[in-house]
Amino acid sequence: MINNARILDTFLTLVTTDSKTKQEGRMADLLQSRLEAMGFTVERDNAGELIGGETGNIIARLKGTRSTETLLLCAHMDRVNPGIGIKPQVKDGIITSDGTTILAADDCAGLAAILEGIQSALEQGIDRPDIEVVFTIAEEGGLNGSKHLDYSKLTAKQAFIIDSSTPVGTVVNQAPAQTKLTYRIIGKAAHGGVEPEKGVNALIVAAHALTRMKLGRIDEETTANIGLAQGGAATNIVMETFEMKGDARSLVMEKMEAQVAHMTEVFEKTAAEFGARVEADIQFAYGPVNLKPGDVVLERAFAAIRRVGLHPELRATGGGSDANLFNTKGIQACNLGTGYRGAHSLKESIPVSELEKIGAVVYALIQEYAAL
Ligand SMILES: [Zn+2]
Repeated sequence: MINNARILDTFLTLVTTDSKTKQEGRMADLLQSRLEAMGFTVERDNAGELIGGETGNIIARLKGTRSTETLLLCAHMDRVNPGIGIKPQVKDGIITSDGTTILAADDCAGLAAILEGIQSALEQGIDRPDIEVVFTIAEEGGLNGSKHLDYSKLTAKQAFIIDSSTPVGTVVNQAPAQTKLTYRIIGKAAHGGVEPEKGVNALIVAAHALTRMKLGRIDEETTANIGLAQGGAATNIVMETFEMKGDARSLVMEKMEAQVAHMTEVFEKTAAEFGARVEADIQFAYGPVNLKPGDVVLERAFAAIRRVGLHPELRATGGGSDANLFNTKGIQACNLGTGYRGAHSLKESIPVSELEKIGAVVYALIQEYAAL
């Protein structure tokens, strides 16, 4: 179905093209030229300007031979550190870095699969649907590319994100929404030795509040965590401010909102009780991926996976991906297993066979959408 030698070659070219979050310019130029060579109309949105990056997201489209539904394929162009000067090694069918950098199969595997699946379809002259391709910036560290993507430029109703660290054949259908939380308790400073009774210790207030609060595992679909804390000026000063950062996550928006409201209320009540006050900074990050068997995007993903002879399987994860933003913006999106392992570490790897399979899945999605 696809050209196995070429997808490996493309993958190696991509990982050796330097890229990092907000510095995706070289990568974007390379991908744009590849897409244009296949006949795509390519534009970039203004997400780069909005977040202070080198380039915006790439949005590309190619008219199909059949006017069925539009197929949308997405992968991200940035990578985590250290990801500059990667020297990929292929040994016994496994691709790794030389051990001094990551491999950036997250997400060059997704990029290569999309390019190869489309190129093979074009060469073989098979029927194809209208295709939209989105290559995002700044996925790592907060999904900031897809958060600022210009969704008005897209016509597809479903999207396939090619960026999950699960095996090819798996489909991530559940990933929680997230809200980022900052709570700052403001008490009253006083000399701890001379007149401590005149102070209000912000840490004591926070401690009382936290013991009255539901945290950790809230229910099957919901979690909350305080992961960072700092405060205080000196050992002899009653602590005036104490700041905590954390997040609340849930597969169900209402449950996440209820948890945030609960936390804010407990902090406020407790602070008032002690004569302190609280400043809350609550930032909604993204909505959930919460797809059910039978949802169109899953049916199509399953059909494509079966076309390449694999057995499709659903997976839930606790982390976010560009799929969260697409779903938040009303485009039903799942994240497809891409077969890379050990992402974000120097031990990152991907079997050549998985790379070939995910390229074949993209090709099969084209067949699937053309046959609707
Ligand atoms: Zn990724």
